[in-house]
Amino acid sequence: MGEDVDEVARKADCACGCGLFGTVRKNPAGHIRGCTCPKCRGQRNRRKGLTKQRQARKALGVAPSHKFGDANEENWGDAIFANEVKAGAQIKPAVTAWSRIEAQVLSNQTAIGSIKKPCRAILMPDDWGKEGLVMVRLSTWSELIRPALEEYYKS
Ligand SMILES: [Zn+2]
Ligand SMILES: [Zn+2]
Repeated sequence: MGEDVDEVARKADCACGCGLFGTVRKNPAGHIRGCTCPKCRGQRNRRKGLTKQRQARKALGVAPSHKFGDANEENWGDAIFANEVKAGAQIKPAVTAWSRIEAQVLSNQTAIGSIKKPCRAILMPDDWGKEGLVMVRLSTWSELIRPALEEYYKS
């Protein structure tokens, strides 16, 4: 019975004035679930970003920082790499480029009839000299590269 009163008490109009009525959230305070105001969108994106970071860190086999949790890649317990996890609209061009390259590589493999190997894309920018970029899937990293690195740095 007391719970019912609580439930009713926590329902209200959204603080942003969007017209939504429902259970009030703690963060952003006073906003209703489903609200699409900039504050709520920012909060949702931040949460999504943190989830992506955690998923990436676990797949890479990197320990979280003891001090700050894994809220920031700069605090990851990674002895080898300085990491930066990116998500959202800003990475679309890179993802599109990767998707095209991988599809091409995989279809070439089928044509030859060889065993499917994971794709490794090497990008060699015109003005970079001998320097380039390597792209692999996170799953490829955790299945192939991570064990090899761990083996190497153990000895
Ligand atoms: Zn609202
Ligand atoms: Zn809102």
